[in-house]
Amino acid sequence: MDTRIVRIYEDHPNPPEMADLGIIIKDGGLVAFPTETVYGLGGDALNPESSKKIYAAKGRPSDNPLIVHIANLSNLDALTEEIPESAKKLADAFWPGPLTMILKKSASVPKETTGGLDTVAVRFPSHKVAQELIKAGGGYIAAPSANLSGKPSPTLAKYVLEDLNGRVDAIIDGGDIPIGLESTIVDLTGDVPMILRPGYITKEMLESVLGTISTDPTILDGNSKERPKAPGMRYRHYAPKGELTVVEGDSEAVIAYINRAVSNAREADKKTGVIATSGTADFYSADVVKKIGNREVPEEVAASLYRILREMDDENVEVIYSESFADDGLGAAIMNRLLKAAGHRKISV
Ligand code: AMP
Ligand code: MG
Repeated sequence: MDTRIVRIYEDHPNPPEMADLGIIIKDGGLVAFPTETVYGLGGDALNPESSKKIYAAKGRPSDNPLIVHIANLSNLDALTEEIPESAKKLADAFWPGPLTMILKKSASVPKETTGGLDTVAVRFPSHKVAQELIKAGGGYIAAPSANLSGKPSPTLAKYVLEDLNGRVDAIIDGGDIPIGLESTIVDLTGDVPMILRPGYITKEMLESVLGTISTDPTILDGNSKERPKAPGMRYRHYAPKGELTVVEGDSEAVIAYINRAVSNAREADKKTGVIATSGTADFYSADVVKKIGNREVPEEVAASLYRILREMDDENVEVIYSESFADDGLGAAIMNRLLKAAGHRKISV
């Protein structure tokens, strides 16, 4: 399949080509596109054949449900029989934006899209290019992240191309992605709303609107034997080719520990890498040192994480150490993804 590549940026989100891209979606084809969280791989959410194609293009297990993206609040009506009061409040506060809500699905949503579940995940993204594609494509786009299964979610169009060229009809290159981590997922089908995946919309932000909410216990305990409620959290997450270890503690002790570990690994002829912050990068002596951003600005850390994990692979780093981050607010999402990438290998010094 020839993949058409189109550059569309947020400052001019609806050029004439957008109508053609919408027709690809309506005809059952696939278009990768930018959102504010990560790049998405989109198809018509109400067409079971489109969802099957998404799973095939990604190499994703078909029991791992897709998120349905809308660009108009009134389109929520067709996806669910009944919109709970909590969903209305959250939509009012955080949509358009990086929040996905789990609701009971209506008969219009095919089981192919929801991985066989009776619930549906819905998001109204704020990215202008995503909104225009959704509108042009008929109003309902099912989209997981636009990476091959087993790779980190793409935050740059070049990674979408690397993974999906020849596997989708078109890719929209929308430039850099502002957030860099997947949306927060909150389940509104139970008595108490529950966070199934932490993201940019934090627990504190959700509680300011809904009062007390819970968090899926498997997110807090990496070694939990329970089944995560979000099927996607069940799969082995992306792990870099190199062995990644997160080191937590007082900054000087962390630097000393990592430098010692790096020098041991180098003696064993391993290529070494460190994920450091802007303030500490100069203190490390590894083969590859990546600055993830300012530790006081978690938005910077979130936006760089997936790019750096891909770069470590591109540079064939074999042993990787990362500093650790505060796990409150947006830090909860950063540490969730970082620890998954590390297979929960964490050392306290
Ligand atoms: P991705 O599109 O790669 O960010 O993955 C979407 C994730 O949303 C899935 O892997 C699931 O973990 C979660 N999800 C989607 N639909 C549902 C649902 N109906 N119930 C629970 N989790 C869901
Ligand atoms: Mg994904």
